[in-house]
Amino acid sequence: MSIKLPLDIRTVKGFLDATEGEALHHLAAEACALGACLEVGSYCGKSTIYLAAACKLVDGVVFAVDHHRGSEEHQPGEEYHDPELFDDRTQLMDSFHVFRRNIRTAQLEDWVVPVVAPSAVAARCWNTPLGLVFIDGGHSQEAAVTDYRCWARHIVPGGYLAIHDIFPDPADGGQAPYDIYKLALASGEFELVEMVDTLGVLRRLG
Ligand code: SAH
Ligand code: MG
Repeated sequence: MSIKLPLDIRTVKGFLDATEGEALHHLAAEACALGACLEVGSYCGKSTIYLAAACKLVDGVVFAVDHHRGSEEHQPGEEYHDPELFDDRTQLMDSFHVFRRNIRTAQLEDWVVPVVAPSAVAARCWNTPLGLVFIDGGHSQEAAVTDYRCWARHIVPGGYLAIHDIFPDPADGGQAPYDIYKLALASGEFELVEMVDTLGVLRRLG
């Protein structure tokens, strides 16, 4: 089923294929009946827009967690560095202003709660049941495991855990997202729903 987005999503910088974005959109539309949606790793808002456009349809909300300082691969000199997102005054990465602009252009501000903080800090006092958690933050082993430990436990029965950048073959990419995907399955608390490109979708058992 094709979806209608409020802006040309190709104008939004990011790391998400349209098929993955559309899958997220459909998951969010379903998950909102169970609880809030939350993503770790918003960057310039590409995934956020797919999620929020669904929240808008069903009166849900997405918490968009990102410190907006970039992951390791976004830092100066690294493979995915974007000079347009580098703040010369602070000498730090800053994707927040672009994120904000994109959410505004998409007219989705009423369905997005930006949480500008490291994932583990945002999770410290978290107490809200979640219908969908989308993990697409730091890809170091430590960052990915922290995100999994911090957020998966808030997913309600029947709710979804979606993990991006799953590469079963190490030749295709880093293994941290795949490792937490395996951790979730091994916990016995989640079942596999589907793989959409590199997006792994799991569901919490009842
Ligand atoms: N989902 C985005 C891409 C995310 S890129 C899209 O659709 O395009 C990964 C993002 O994770 C970066 O913006 C980075 O700032 C953020 N990030 C990395 N580690 C983080 C952490 N520990 N806490 C919060 N955000 C983090
Ligand atoms: Mg990703």
